[in-house]
Amino acid sequence: MLPKPPPRDNGLGFLFLPPYRVAGTSVAGEATSIMVPELDVTFDLGICPRAMLPSKYVCISHGHMDHIGGLAYWCSQRYFQGMGVGNIICPEPIAPAIQRMLEGYNDLERQKTPYNLIPLKPEGTHEIKNNVFVRAFALEHTAPTFGYSVIERRSKLKDEFVGLPQEKLTELKSQGTEITRWLEIPLVAYVYDTVPVPAMVREDVRKAQLILCECTFFEPGDRARAKVGMHLHVSDIVEWLKVAECQAMVIGHVSRRTNLAIAKSFLVQALGKEKADRVHFLMDGKANKERFERQLLDAGEHPTPVRGGGKFGAGPFRGRQGDARGPGPARGMGGGGSGSGGGYRSGPTRG
Ligand SMILES: [Zn+2]
Ligand SMILES: [Zn+2]
Repeated sequence: MLPKPPPRDNGLGFLFLPPYRVAGTSVAGEATSIMVPELDVTFDLGICPRAMLPSKYVCISHGHMDHIGGLAYWCSQRYFQGMGVGNIICPEPIAPAIQRMLEGYNDLERQKTPYNLIPLKPEGTHEIKNNVFVRAFALEHTAPTFGYSVIERRSKLKDEFVGLPQEKLTELKSQGTEITRWLEIPLVAYVYDTVPVPAMVREDVRKAQLILCECTFFEPGDRARAKVGMHLHVSDIVEWLKVAECQAMVIGHVSRRTNLAIAKSFLVQALGKEKADRVHFLMDGKANKERFERQLLDAGEHPTPVRGGGKFGAGPFRGRQGDARGPGPARGMGGGGSGSGGGYRSGPTRG
């Protein structure tokens, strides 16, 4: 009898939540890496799938292996493939350890892989695109952990000057009057590996268009486990969603023993269908594939499979079809936990 081949690679989870694509993988204790291509950011790199290489920035939440295991590889591959120096945004307390890790690889590889380490203090910001900033804030976990918000700053005419003719505004400006103020638009919040904390309702998280968050435990009896591992339990998510204004919340870091169908019906029960409909699971391959196919049909496109497109057919990156440069992220975007809809089993508690 022939030996069994290794388990099939399920690829990355993928959702299109206009204007953002969310692609990645996140299973409790195994690996979390979540990319938002529109922002050039990947949050955490527990592993480094090829799809994450083009991200110019990675925001590391904390040093647990399931969030940082792929970081050195990402730096090295970006350099190797001529994609430029990787920018690593991280909590300041773990920056020295990250530096030591990367220097350890330099010794092992006998070559110097460049990287740009950007340690942030809580409330520290870094501009990642024109007028788009990443801001760090502290979370509470078994290791020093930060969450991140991505905000856009827009210059807006101060209320008292609205309606004035352009010549008047130009005149005021030339006299040195500050006629504009900065408006902050919270775009995306990343809240991974934490117990419930007040930071979850801070303005730039509560009002973020998209929240990417962990929820490791779903069983009513698992609240104690969530507390010990310092993770979120679904009951925390329910409370959070009563005040969070996000258009969409994408949950990851679900433990393999969670049955997604039961988790979803619990959310509908606790929140009502309308609110629960805003919640998605990154690794819910079946539901995410169906939604994307509906989106394609609504856009007048046919979800016909393309060569190499994996389970997701044309996949999320069809805009770049034919663009042969760089590591094409289209392969295996079918994503999806255990494959056919939610049968997560026996799980870890680490991470
Ligand atoms: Zn984790
Ligand atoms: Zn962790």
